Amino acid sequence: MTRIRDFSITQKLTWMNMLVSGAALFLATGAFLAYARVVYRQTMVRYLTMRARVVGANCVSAVLFDDPKGAGDTLSALRADEHIVGAWIYTPQGEPFAGYWRDGGGSAPRMPAIAKGKPEAFWFADDQLMLIRAITFQGKLTAFVFFESDLHELRERQVRYLEIGALVLLASLFTAFLVSRVFGQVVAMPIRALFDTARAVSRDKDYSLRAAPTDSRDEVGVLVRAFNEMLAQIQERDEAVRKSAASLAEAQQVAHVGSWEWNVEADSAWWSDEMYRLYGVEPGKFAPSLENALAHIPAADREMVRKELQDGYEGRRPIDFDHHINLPDGSERIVHARAEVVAPEPGKAVRVVGVLQDITTRKRAEMTLKKRTEELAESQQALEQKVQELARSNSDLEQFAYIASHDLQEPLRTVASFAQLLQRRYKGKLDSSADEFIHYMVDGASRMQGLINDLLAFSRVGSRGKVFAPADFEAVVGLALGNLQTAIAESGAEVTHDPLPTVNCDGSQLTQVFQNLVGNGIKFHNSQQPHVHIGVEHKDSEWVFSVKDNGIGIDPQFNQRIFEVFQRLHTRTEYPGSGIGLSITKKIVERHGGRIWVESQPGQGANFLFTLPA
Ligand code: ADP
Repeated sequence: MTRIRDFSITQKLTWMNMLVSGAALFLATGAFLAYARVVYRQTMVRYLTMRARVVGANCVSAVLFDDPKGAGDTLSALRADEHIVGAWIYTPQGEPFAGYWRDGGGSAPRMPAIAKGKPEAFWFADDQLMLIRAITFQGKLTAFVFFESDLHELRERQVRYLEIGALVLLASLFTAFLVSRVFGQVVAMPIRALFDTARAVSRDKDYSLRAAPTDSRDEVGVLVRAFNEMLAQIQERDEAVRKSAASLAEAQQVAHVGSWEWNVEADSAWWSDEMYRLYGVEPGKFAPSLENALAHIPAADREMVRKELQDGYEGRRPIDFDHHINLPDGSERIVHARAEVVAPEPGKAVRVVGVLQDITTRKRAEMTLKKRTEELAESQQALEQKVQELARSNSDLEQFAYIASHDLQEPLRTVASFAQLLQRRYKGKLDSSADEFIHYMVDGASRMQGLINDLLAFSRVGSRGKVFAPADFEAVVGLALGNLQTAIAESGAEVTHDPLPTVNCDGSQLTQVFQNLVGNGIKFHNSQQPHVHIGVEHKDSEWVFSVKDNGIGIDPQFNQRIFEVFQRLHTRTEYPGSGIGLSITKKIVERHGGRIWVESQPGQGANFLFTLPA
């Protein structure tokens, strides 16, 4: 049988209305019947009393004159009253005197007792009312009248009332049924709509659905509005959750980090989408668990992974380690696993929650870097060795050049002085060819002396240099220009310069530098008047000096060559010189920790720049 609580609301309302109105009507009918019964009985008692008085008064003379027949006639008049079953007159001694029976004759019943001094007594028995009354005449007890009356009318009335009551009950139940239906619809319909919406929402997880709005202000109206508001809030949260889940998935994809959760006892796991990508497996086709994951891990790593995880969830150490994954295409991926054991709530299984990060690129880069660093260290070592060798051979060379040029000077001087002696003594005494040969000899010896001096000067740059001290470049340049006085005067050159700083250096070597550069600026000129300008700039913790002229310029292809020893771009007849000046200059600048270079184009002058640490 359907239980009441499983009834629909309409059914419940109908039943409730019918039960309430039925019960009310039932109680009202019962009360009415009880009241009618009491009233009827009282009326019957009053009626019988009145009858007993009348009959008693009419029978007094018959009793006094001992005329039972007359009394019987008087009693017979009671026939008109259908409810009186019988009536009897008794003498004061309680002897029957006369009687009336509605259903024919019979013997008179024994006179019922009546309390002394009371005029009347009555009682109800077996659906009958009995009443006995004393009759007095002139203050003297004359007789007793006893009536027996049925209560059929009462029963008939009660039956009628019951019938009417039943009819009214039926009619009101029917009305209550109809009213409940109508009101039930009004109340139940919005609830039903609410119910349908709630069911659709929970089935389809579609939180954009809304219950049909109602403008009623009763509890149902409030409920519908509250329900819709609740749905709106859930929808908002659902969207927020969806968005953050999507952005988490995106972030995981971008960072190549997967997240996972592992139920240790059941060996069941949950993987984020990125986890499947990292393992190269497809969600739905792969059941995440430790055993299934281990099957994708190279045998060499498998036991290590198992042990790390076991130690981790048994609390021996944090879960933080790298391992490899075999990918379906045969390649390998290196990943870093980090996880924490979630302390189990009582009665719940141990869970391990973690992340897996793809570190293949980083690891490979680290490996390459390590290899490169090792290679670099090796080549650095080789380089240092080479530098040392170079420095050694350089100093050997300098030593050799110095010793050679120094030791060559002596015999050369002898050759030169004897050649000159020969020239002086025998000029015009031998034949003309001899004079010419002797001249070549003298000239060659003196050029050779020049070259040897140059070489000596070059080799002394490193070995005979002075200690650095602050030098005022105005003075340094002034000295250089003083040394160039004749050349300047002969060429009519104009030499200018910026205000010059004081620099920590070997002042006499720097005088040599300016002398060489300015000297070249004056020397390598064309038909124009030579202009040389010395400039200076402070740049990135160094001084940049420039010596710029308006001379013949240099083809950029010779920018390096001109700084080499004895390298010249012209013959001595075009421009005199030995080709040592720039190489000495370069050596001095480098000894000071600077650089030197030239910026020039043929026919457009040359600009020699060099730096010195500031
Ligand atoms: P030298 O001046 O004795 O020839 P350097 O070593 O001073 O030797 O110069 C080498 C060569 O560089 C010069 O022979 C010349 O060809 C070129 N050179 C140097 N300075 C200049 C300059 N200011 N203008 C053009 N050419 C130059």
